[in-house]
Amino acid sequence: MAEENKSSLDPLAALCKRRGFIYHSSEIYGGMPGFWDYGPLGCELKQNVKQAWWQFTVRGREDVAGLDATIIMHPRIWKASGHLDTFADPMTMCKECKKLMRADQIADILAEQKKKPVPHNPEGTLSCPYCGGEMTEPKPFNLMFKTVVGPIDDPSNVAYLRPETAQAIFAQFQNVTSTSRMAVPYGIAQMGKSFRNEVTPRNYTFRSREFEQMELEFFIRPDEAVEILHGRVVTLADNPDLNGPVQDDWGWEVWHKYWVEQRKKFLNAVGLPTEHFVEYWQKPDELAHYARACVDIEYDFPFGRQELEGIAARSDFDLSQHQKWSGESQMVFDDPLKQAAKKMDENAKAAFIEKVQADWVRRGKDVEAARKFCLNLFDGKYIPHVIEPSAGVDRLMLALLCEAYEEQKLVDEKGKEDIRTVLHFSPKVAPIKVAIFPLIKKDPDQDRIAREIFTKLQKKVNVMWDVSGAIGRRYRRQDEAGTPWCITIDAQTVADGTFTVRERDSMQQKRMTYPEFLAMMYDALEF
Ligand code: ATP
Repeated sequence: MAEENKSSLDPLAALCKRRGFIYHSSEIYGGMPGFWDYGPLGCELKQNVKQAWWQFTVRGREDVAGLDATIIMHPRIWKASGHLDTFADPMTMCKECKKLMRADQIADILAEQKKKPVPHNPEGTLSCPYCGGEMTEPKPFNLMFKTVVGPIDDPSNVAYLRPETAQAIFAQFQNVTSTSRMAVPYGIAQMGKSFRNEVTPRNYTFRSREFEQMELEFFIRPDEAVEILHGRVVTLADNPDLNGPVQDDWGWEVWHKYWVEQRKKFLNAVGLPTEHFVEYWQKPDELAHYARACVDIEYDFPFGRQELEGIAARSDFDLSQHQKWSGESQMVFDDPLKQAAKKMDENAKAAFIEKVQADWVRRGKDVEAARKFCLNLFDGKYIPHVIEPSAGVDRLMLALLCEAYEEQKLVDEKGKEDIRTVLHFSPKVAPIKVAIFPLIKKDPDQDRIAREIFTKLQKKVNVMWDVSGAIGRRYRRQDEAGTPWCITIDAQTVADGTFTVRERDSMQQKRMTYPEFLAMMYDALEF
């Protein structure tokens, strides 16, 4: 986004409405706060973002399998996960103007009003940012949407719209493990809708009540299992190569950092340069009690620096909780581990147990549980630990739109100034990849050849046909949609088959043959 547009989302939001990226949901009835619809260009962008994530995270790897679970699941899932008891925001109300807001967002709202970026996770101050009135004592407000399953509206039939996609992955862990025939370390990925009854949905689509997530649960061995297998656990202090192939002797710390790097590579690939986001490593007192580390990838949105996605090392908390609440074992059997443990004599095993017990006690855990854990390891059994890269589709789309938007001042040969509004999307996510223009609408040869090229390309990517207006105007329309290439069919095309390809960012034009264009396009679209 150009410097002068940085402080406000307004020009971008106006473009998004005008060109059909984003509309208010139910707009003809006045809209609903926190609900947004994607128009023709928006839904193409969304499909491309999701497809890119799936390609990068699932299909492009050997060690990740996919899942598509229901939105409404057994309510005990949310008891086990902790969402029923603790998935709440501190809600407060102004005693004067009666506005409701999240107590922990008051400082953000104040900073936004002054149009300054906010520091991370600031302390909330409790006076109303709108009228200065006194605020009520914050009370926890559970963010899950309730519904009733079946025809009888009774508390026993209450269910919830999922507030995250991750829990379905844990609940189906054993099924996917046995049917995919994958072994830890491996991951399960899911994309889909999530719902949170946010107290104050704000900042355009950034915080919505209905949104989509793209989540990966990457299951790894506990470090103690890695130690039995390899006699060592590689940590970050060992300077492992995170760009090469994954290694069996990595401990959780390395896996976590590996996934942070993978996520950054993905963001680069879809069009966010590394220098435009930051890694925020949560401090020990900010971490959930079960988490060992959590990194937020934060992006400088026009309304401040905010979380784009998170990568958490969640230990074995989730699967352990589901084992406890469902009564179904969530352990895996790891034959190489069992074989490695067989080679340990009794003294080595006793020393190992003692070491693990000392470590667990240091971390405030139970000594007897540590012994049982070790005995299970010697049998090749454990509950896997997990690294969770969790991203929001809509939030990433908003970041990509902010990043792509530019109002360029152009001066023509006669010195006349003009503004070109352009979305510099990466071709990988651009809603329309190619626009085809016959130069002269009424020329039957140009029209026929243009149609042929259009039809051939349509089978491969999203293509736009445009015959109306001067070529310059047609270019501008595509610039606003973020279309990387415009092809113009002219008299020379009729003569020799070459056409003009105009590149969006440089505005350079080049004559190409169809095979040359295809090769260039595929190169730009490949991950
Ligand atoms: P926040 O602190 O912004 O509420 P969170 O830490 O609760 O987010 P997670 O539960 O970790 O978020 O969800 C993972 C990702 O899902 C977020 O990084 C974000 O991209 C997306 N996400 C979460 N809540 C929303 C929402 N209300 N609207 C849009 N995207 C969301």
